[in-house]
Formats: sequence, C-alpha cells, structure tokens
Amino acid sequence: MVKTTNQAPFTVGHCAICGTRVLTYVDLNDDGMLVHGCLRCGAALHDDLQSVSQDQLAEHGYEIAVASSCGSGGSGGCGSCGVKSAPVATH
Ligand SMILES: [Zn+2]
Repeated sequence: MVKTTNQAPFTVGHCAICGTRVLTYVDLNDDGMLVHGCLRCGAALHDDLQSVSQDQLAEHGYEIAVASSCGSGGSGGCGSCGVKSAPVATH
C-alpha cells in the first residue's frame, strides 16, 4: 500500500509506457477506488509506487517550479495571491 504523509506528499511509480519512473496523480476509478496515474501519459500505475518528499523529487528527475511573477512568494509559492508551486519534469 502507498502511504502518503505530509512529509511525503508525492508519489512516483514506474510507467511501462514511458519506460521510466514518473510522478503520479491520484484519481478515482469507476469503482471508486483510489488509483495512481502517470503524469506524463495518463496510464494507470499499480506497481512499484513510492511516496517521496518534495526534496526527494529531484532524485526522480523533478523539481518544484515556484511561481515568481507575484514577487512576494518564497519557496513553496505565494500564500496571499494563490499562486502555487507545482512539480515539473526536468528531463
Ligand atoms: Zn507514462
């Protein structure tokens, strides 16, 4: 089972279609079951899922892109204008 904590808010898994480890999104399937999908191609991932922290994302080829347009946001995004940081692929 995948455990998600505040320290490990992201889940990565191996996507057979992409042929690499990818960041996943969480969705519900038709049966209302929680499923993980490949953020790149959308394929459902069931195996080799691993919860990672924001700091560990870099090890998996991702980094947190912080919106800087508002000028007041530090690391983690701006809390006052609603601009959120988001994980992006770096390779
Ligand atoms: Zn994929």
